[in-house]
Amino acid sequence: MVRRRIRASEGERRATIKAFRKSREESCGLFCPVVRSGKCRVAILGAGRAGVAFCSALRKLVPADQIEIALVDRNDQHELTPILHLVAAGLADFDDARSPIIPPAADAIQFACAGVRMIQLIDKMVLLDSSSLSYDILIIALGATTSYFRVKGARANALPLRSTTDAATICTRMAQIVEDDKPHRIIIVGGGATGVSLAAALCEATRLNHCQDRISIVIVEAKSRLLSDWPSEVSRGATEVLVRNGVTLALNARVEKVAKSTILTTDGRRIDSALTLWTAGVIGSAIRTIPKISTTCDRRLKVDGFCKVGGFANVFAIGDIAAMDDMDGNPYPQLGQVANQQADYLARQIARSIAGDATPPTRFQGIVDGRLLSLGTNTFIGQFRNYTVQGTIDSIIAKLAARSNSDPALRSVVERLQSEELDRSLRELADLKTALFGEVRNLAQGKTV
Ligand SMILES: Cc1cc2nc3c(=O)[nH]c(=O)nc-3n(C[C@H](O)[C@H](O)[C@H](O)COP(=O)(O)OP(=O)(O)OC[C@H]3O[C@@H](n4cnc5c(N)ncnc54)[C@H](O)[C@@H]3O)c2cc1C
Repeated sequence: MVRRRIRASEGERRATIKAFRKSREESCGLFCPVVRSGKCRVAILGAGRAGVAFCSALRKLVPADQIEIALVDRNDQHELTPILHLVAAGLADFDDARSPIIPPAADAIQFACAGVRMIQLIDKMVLLDSSSLSYDILIIALGATTSYFRVKGARANALPLRSTTDAATICTRMAQIVEDDKPHRIIIVGGGATGVSLAAALCEATRLNHCQDRISIVIVEAKSRLLSDWPSEVSRGATEVLVRNGVTLALNARVEKVAKSTILTTDGRRIDSALTLWTAGVIGSAIRTIPKISTTCDRRLKVDGFCKVGGFANVFAIGDIAAMDDMDGNPYPQLGQVANQQADYLARQIARSIAGDATPPTRFQGIVDGRLLSLGTNTFIGQFRNYTVQGTIDSIIAKLAARSNSDPALRSVVERLQSEELDRSLRELADLKTALFGEVRNLAQGKTV
């Protein structure tokens, strides 16, 4: 049934191409088509970092009598991904990592808790689980999900870490392992930022539960070093901390098969495990569109320098689902700070268009000043511009402050941090981590719309 609906006849195909050309012509000179009568209907698919940040920014820029915003997500909770590894290790509460999506009363925003099933681009219509939504402007911010790279048994036998539900499942399994008085091995497949932070958090948890001698943690990584897309100094520093805490590394080891209590690597290594965690890959969230739009090999939507999708004048993608290159042709990383910056950029461009400003838009230019990852509740490592930083938040701020006299770019960041109340709660730590590395707003402000 569904297949027949998707496969277009020759007549439908021609009509699609004609409508597509018309929509391009209409947008000529403007960022997106101007709605000449009534309110502009903006549909935002996904209420994660990008969707919520975009929604908040647009609401501030466009008077409520000019827009109707529909925000859609299959969950009614916004999730704080930077502390998921702490929840998984039992070092932070489940509730610390989520907060309800509640639009302010009497606002132009309507929130729909529903799954997105299909987007009909020509008809400007989104099919949800049991309803549909029409739009003038569409923002796709559906994020990314776990990729198992078609490794046999991985989906069935390894636990991912992408949501609070995943974190809670890992936490429950960890509690069983801690309570069981026998030796156990935990395998983390993937030595990127999530795998490294998770390993450090699990080490801290086993130490706190006095079972570090019987619970061992192994990171299995296909590349020759951990954090292969980070500067080598950061990779070295994190590796030293993990090894000092008893984590074993299996490098240059590509996983071929995951069974219930074993993994097998392509070079014939077999490693037993009580719990296998999968932090190895990311793929764009699945999305069906008519007509089909072009995606990368990791299923992200190809967007141009203006966040536009497939040449449609009124369709944009931001955040993890958007595959965009910077001015040098390098892809922007899938980070909260990029999602926030794209959201702010796009809200400004769309607000200008709604106001009828016909000046040509500027390209998106993101700035990733630095990145930070946590090695347990109190220790962080990362890089800001050319500086590698490591330690507690306080010591990192102090080091950056000392350097800010000779580096003016650091001064504003340091001033912002020093003005923060240094509350020691986990949420505050996550907020500081975010603020420290140039994210446009702090998570506490961005979490609700
Ligand atoms: C464990 C972990 C730790 C991280 N730590 C950091 C960090 O420290 N710093 C940093 O900068 N970045 C970090 N990131 C990356 C950061 O979370 C992402 O870059 C950011 O969330 C991207 O925002 P987004 O809006 O594109 O996607 P998301 O925030 O993932 O939001 C996507 C939304 O779409 C919804 N959705 C998906 N499919 C559907 C559907 N079919 N129907 C309806 N709704 C749907 C989801 O429910 C979700 O709410 C981390 C990611 C993970 C997984």
